[in-house]
Amino acid sequence: MKGFAMLGIGKVGWIEKEVPKCGPLDAIVRPLAIAICTSDVHTVYEGAIGDRHNMILGHEGCGEIVEVGSEVKDFKPGDRVLVPAITPDWNSLEAQAGYSMHSGGMLAGWKFSNFKDGVFSEYFHVNDADGNLALIPDGMTVEEACILSDMVPTGFHAVELADVQFGDSVLVIGIGAVGLMSVAGASLRGASRIIAVGTRPVCINAAKGYGATDFISYKDGSIEDQVMELTGGKGVDRVCIAGGDVSTFEAAIKSLKPGGRIGSVNYLGSGDFVNIPRTEWGCGMGHKQILTGLMPGGRLRMEKLSSLVASGRLDVKPEITHVFHGWDHCAEALELMRDKPKDLIKPVVIPD
Ligand code: NAD
Ligand code: ZN
Repeated sequence: MKGFAMLGIGKVGWIEKEVPKCGPLDAIVRPLAIAICTSDVHTVYEGAIGDRHNMILGHEGCGEIVEVGSEVKDFKPGDRVLVPAITPDWNSLEAQAGYSMHSGGMLAGWKFSNFKDGVFSEYFHVNDADGNLALIPDGMTVEEACILSDMVPTGFHAVELADVQFGDSVLVIGIGAVGLMSVAGASLRGASRIIAVGTRPVCINAAKGYGATDFISYKDGSIEDQVMELTGGKGVDRVCIAGGDVSTFEAAIKSLKPGGRIGSVNYLGSGDFVNIPRTEWGCGMGHKQILTGLMPGGRLRMEKLSSLVASGRLDVKPEITHVFHGWDHCAEALELMRDKPKDLIKPVVIPD
């Protein structure tokens, strides 16, 4: 089979590989659509997970099952399925401890294009099919289904980590495809005010639609100064981080009220340390919590989050700005995600 792969840091291309083998609990899936992620950009161009050779890329997509293992109970060939970016081993001790995304070791629930080949190929392998796949709801397009792999569960996870409550004021740093879902998630959780940090008009428009009430640009001065000005010097209850770098935690701590909480899903692709500003952290006594994490995957989460889309409570269409037809467009879509032209939020490729 053909797969679109990382050949080495900064290099991509099509390679030939064997069709993956299906174990008793597994499924083999043929993609119906795939999406490019900023994480693919970190992986290929920044070598953020190391120098991988001939590793098929991609962890966002949906597909049609072509084979299931002998122990798979709930899925069969021909089923059209949502595929989460994170596919834990549900019988692991880490999963039993409540951190399924780290099943088998740190970040090891993130298997696609990390510990094994990803989804940008004619066929891909899904471990623990009953625990990880979910049927695509009737009426959902394959483009929308791709947004459920990673953008919805990750953006919402920042909201969960920040523990947004009714009436909270929330700062969302970074309103790319993930941060927009943090805005949407904070709205669904009842935030009263959502301050979004972002500059591109396409993202600002989408964020307005998802419930952002105020906008600031990190290009217009420090985030914390602008937040303090907007909040009469008080700061916000919660911060979701979905953009920036190691230095963004400093702005987040400075923007937070005492007792507030930061939820970060940002992938820190460079820099060795995160600095916490001592004074604004209440000299260590400010009850300002920082929670960070990889998105939870699995079937239950896919079923619940897709039900929000199916019921009309969440519209993921504004996320999808570019749709390509044909595998040939993978390289172009990846480069678009790297270069982030003004009109881009998320590119999807339909192999056809
Ligand atoms: P994106 O690049 O589309 O969006 C990030 C946004 O942050 C951009 O609009 C950018 O302009 C903005 N930004 C850059 N520097 C900033 C700064 N200093 N302050 C504020 N905003 C700034 O990326 P995305 O696809 O939305 O993903 C966001 C992050 O989430 C990435 O790092 C991605 O790798 C990560 N991610 C994490 C998980 C997870 O499970 N934790 C899953 C998927 C993606
Ligand atoms: Zn992703």
